[in-house]
Amino acid sequence: MPEYEAVIGLETHIQLNTNTKIFCSCKADSWNDPPNTNICPVCTGLPGVLPVLNQAVVEKGALLAAAMHAEIQLVSYFDRKNYFYPDLPKGYQISQYDMPLGRGGYLDVPMPDGYTRRVSIHKLHIEEDAGKTKNENGQRLIDFNRCGVPLVEMVTGPDLRTADEAAQYLIRLRQLLRWIGISEADMEKAHLRCDANVSIRPKGADYLNPKTEIKNVNSIVAVRDAIQTEFERQVREVEAGHRIEAWTLDWDEDSGVLRKMRSKETENDYRYFREPDLLPVRINEAWKQEILAQLPELPLERRARFMQDYGLPEYDADILTAERSLSDYFEEAVKAYDGDPKRVSNWLMNDVLRMINESGVQARDLKLTPEYLAEIIKLVDSGSVNTSTGKSLLSKVEESGRAPAEIVQSEGLAQVSDQGAIQSVCAQVISENPEQVAAYQGGKLGLIGWFVGQVMRKTRGKADPQLVRAALEEMLK
Ligand SMILES: [Zn+2]
Repeated sequence: MPEYEAVIGLETHIQLNTNTKIFCSCKADSWNDPPNTNICPVCTGLPGVLPVLNQAVVEKGALLAAAMHAEIQLVSYFDRKNYFYPDLPKGYQISQYDMPLGRGGYLDVPMPDGYTRRVSIHKLHIEEDAGKTKNENGQRLIDFNRCGVPLVEMVTGPDLRTADEAAQYLIRLRQLLRWIGISEADMEKAHLRCDANVSIRPKGADYLNPKTEIKNVNSIVAVRDAIQTEFERQVREVEAGHRIEAWTLDWDEDSGVLRKMRSKETENDYRYFREPDLLPVRINEAWKQEILAQLPELPLERRARFMQDYGLPEYDADILTAERSLSDYFEEAVKAYDGDPKRVSNWLMNDVLRMINESGVQARDLKLTPEYLAEIIKLVDSGSVNTSTGKSLLSKVEESGRAPAEIVQSEGLAQVSDQGAIQSVCAQVISENPEQVAAYQGGKLGLIGWFVGQVMRKTRGKADPQLVRAALEEMLK
């Protein structure tokens, strides 16, 4: 039995986060709105109306093209993609076909086990979304709110080899979309949608076999599970001597089963032709430069720079660049701290990240600013407060918005490093606990931790634990 590999291409639809729809002034995001409340004659396809292109859609689409290393086309066209479906009131979708906004491009996807997979895209185009149909109590209900919502479609080459690689691609794509600020990229809200084309071949072969298309997967985990299930099905079919047919499959997440929807239609069925109601999209050099000026340092570039410039391990660099606001925060804190960046990374990843996750705010919105974080680490470094006081300061600053040094002063949190003061508390603890003293002196040396704890309690956590330990060991000898 030969060993098989999967050949996977992903077709993604990305909802752009513009205020209004692509060809009318209706609100684009209807997530919290009742059905059919953000609609007008244009997006519901009434006769006699004309579409007007939203400039922000072109700009956000072109920004994504640049981030995907695609070539922004200075002239592109809209086309009508004709098909009949109840939630498509015009009977066609305005899309781009042979002259799209972006051509070529790729995304490098680092995999957890160390290698990087370059995933190519052939083209990138902008288009309008269709409405939404749902079946309820034997009725078919149609919501047109989504008609005319701006989308970018990107189809990858058949470059992915496993279900896990496909999942990693989506994770990196989602990171990129949020990073450059063009989409919320939330799969559960259909801001990022993915269909997967899957075929198999003997490992190492370079030809392509007929593929199936999996539709309606709405989480990254579901994409991975559906592809893996389909890969295993195709292997069984081929081993049994059957041919793989070009089916469209529907993933049922609850049962983990793929169902055949229909035999796949070919592109000819759509009878594309130029959209006569819209002018070509022309991007002149000045506008292109204006768009490119908004392209930030990309997440994987920044990840590499964090490892290079700050000497961070890959693990740290990956977490700190997962999200742009967090990585900006880190850099500002490093600058304010002016010491070992790894130390800032440790504080950030262990404690500040937990605060961010628990409160659900972005790093940039914390009252614990990068400067305050740096100040707390410095207070610990200098011995002004001990580590546990430093950690408690994080949440105190976050709750009050007050400067760390001010809180230390007003709450009397400064570390007690005064030998005399420490010794007198130690002496008190020793005299109050004769039994423990006897046990310790009888050989139960592990009790030292208990004594330190007692002293820390009496000093309300402010004593320098190292000094306390040394003093106790001396006095208990
Ligand atoms: Zn409208």
